[in-house]
Amino acid sequence: MARETVTARLEQKHCISEVAQCYHFDFAIDSLEHFDFAPGQFVSAVAPDQNGKQQTRAYSIASAPRGNHFDLCVNRVENGFFSNHLADLTDLPPGGSVQIHGPHGHFVLHEPITDSILIATGTGVAPMRGYAQWLFPEDGPDRSQGKEIWLVYGTRYETDIYYREEFEALAAKYPNFHYLPTLSRAQDSWTGLRGYVQDHVSRIIEERAAKLGQKLPGMPADPSTPPNLLSFDIYAYICGLNFMVSSVRETLTNFGWHRKQIVFERYD
Ligand SMILES: Cc1cc2nc3c(=O)[nH]c(=O)nc-3n(C[C@H](O)[C@H](O)[C@H](O)COP(=O)(O)OP(=O)(O)OC[C@H]3O[C@@H](n4cnc5c(N)ncnc54)[C@H](O)[C@@H]3O)c2cc1C
Repeated sequence: MARETVTARLEQKHCISEVAQCYHFDFAIDSLEHFDFAPGQFVSAVAPDQNGKQQTRAYSIASAPRGNHFDLCVNRVENGFFSNHLADLTDLPPGGSVQIHGPHGHFVLHEPITDSILIATGTGVAPMRGYAQWLFPEDGPDRSQGKEIWLVYGTRYETDIYYREEFEALAAKYPNFHYLPTLSRAQDSWTGLRGYVQDHVSRIIEERAAKLGQKLPGMPADPSTPPNLLSFDIYAYICGLNFMVSSVRETLTNFGWHRKQIVFERYD
């Protein structure tokens, strides 16, 4: 049976990278006063394709809860149906809209908040923007509880660093928010980090352990330990394409991390 959907009306859309053809969307659900979700969850968008067949795709919500609004961050996939359908919506009157259901998913922050490494590539930054807005709200108390939050964002070129100014502003305001964009194909003029996210995640873990005087376990916690006896002082949240997610999970496992410490969302 088809799921019940609501209409999300496009209020604003802008291109955040011409090169990557990536778009930021601000949608409003006029039939709701509040659209409640946990930062990091996704919506399922539904539309008929050229053959009249109903297509459904998942899109991470790129914002924290904000009245009846939510944001998406989507890039055009070559020959892809839904990403192009969204990217072609117009925010000019009378405005485009899309049918959605949700929120869905378990890619959410563990509470109480611990030190956390947020790791994303490409539009995998969408849920991280939701986390960041929720942890460090513009108009409310800081929810990070002073924990160290690292956002390691990997992409190829400087032009594809989505929401850079927003994250830089947060990092300038909150000493416990560390923003680490890293480029795999940087031009010579780039003075920031280079290479893949995994390299920088390893460095963060080693430096943190040294600072806290902790010895890295080296081997994963016993998988038969009952969940109620597991407690971690750091989590990793990984979002993006499967090859990156798998690679970071392997890196963390090699450091002795337990699989329950590694929360991930795969886009493919
Ligand atoms: C939980 C979840 C959350 C997601 N959140 C986002 C998000 O916030 N932003 C976003 O842009 N996408 C997101 N995606 C991916 C999204 O659901 C679609 O897969 C993507 O937009 C492509 O759909 P399409 O209809 O345009 O392409 P399709 O018509 O489904 O596919 C066309 C071709 O592109 C390939 N392809 C499919 N997906 C991708 C991809 N992601 N990258 C490269 N090639 C691909 C396919 O193998 C196929 O060959 C998410 C996926 C999941 C599972």
